[in-house]
Amino acid sequence: MRAMVLDAPRSPLRAADDVPVPTAQAGQVLLRVHACALCRTDLHIVDGELDRPKLPLILGHQIVATVEQVGDGVESLSAGDRVGVPWLGWTDGECRYCRSGRENLCVRAHFTGYDIDGGYAEYAICDARYCLPIPPGYPDLQAAPLLCAGLIGYRSLRATGDGERLGLYGFGSSAHIITQVARHQGRRVFAFTRAADEASQQFALSLGAEWAGDAMGPPPEPLDAAIIFAPVGALIPAALRAVAPGGIVVCAGIHMSDIPSFPYELLWGERTLRSIANLTRRDGEEFLALAPRVPVHTEVRVFALEDANQALDTLRRGEVQGAEVLTI
Ligand SMILES: [Zn+2]
Ligand SMILES: [Zn+2]
Repeated sequence: MRAMVLDAPRSPLRAADDVPVPTAQAGQVLLRVHACALCRTDLHIVDGELDRPKLPLILGHQIVATVEQVGDGVESLSAGDRVGVPWLGWTDGECRYCRSGRENLCVRAHFTGYDIDGGYAEYAICDARYCLPIPPGYPDLQAAPLLCAGLIGYRSLRATGDGERLGLYGFGSSAHIITQVARHQGRRVFAFTRAADEASQQFALSLGAEWAGDAMGPPPEPLDAAIIFAPVGALIPAALRAVAPGGIVVCAGIHMSDIPSFPYELLWGERTLRSIANLTRRDGEEFLALAPRVPVHTEVRVFALEDANQALDTLRRGEVQGAEVLTI
């Protein structure tokens, strides 16, 4: 099969056309991949910032596919079913986190496109229990960004509680989805971007944000909560400064540059700072049921599988309003 392969961190992906099609073992399904959206996490893997990928590795954890073949014992899926594959690929089901409804923190979890080959390929293997149902109204390319940008964004949004004034730091794939969900919930959205990034600011306003401006500056009024999507540690003191007493700042990304020191005063006043790690299958089911009710519309720029390196560069430069998606 054709696939884009990471042989070693800090090197471009290699276009291969002779990767063996994997075989579904018991409990697994073989998937024909139709679309795979890029995620900032893919760049952290390529850059060596997440430093224990399987190698060689096929990246990609926002997969929309149809089931080609089911392994022994799989009864939940049949050939031809359309499914989504997210970042969480397998958990042990028995550690203290799994047993307390927190499989996102499973100590032995395997992640798609990191520990398991992902969707920058014509075929992929998935444990049938971790596939998610794709809402029928979404074409493959538009559904793909829901699977991480949407899911992790939704888990982050839930962690902000019910604050009305919501700040979003970094206006990429996640923020463009979560702005729509937050507006649907009746919240007010304030979008924070690089000062000169007028294109992203206009995009945020077009999706329902009531204000968009410089991430390092103050918002027009104090916020109740903020989600930081950009992998920039310096945004943490900026966001703490922007939230009112009792406010919460949620870091949605898997990696960030170091956080500069800041005065305790910024955290004082019962402000909360927390991260979001991975997802549970329940997050996936909840969000994919909610998305068509909002309804969430995703903006995508489509790249051929062979152009995955170009797509990663585009993501790195923050050029696309919305999400980069590979069509396969
Ligand atoms: Zn992701
Ligand atoms: Zn576990």
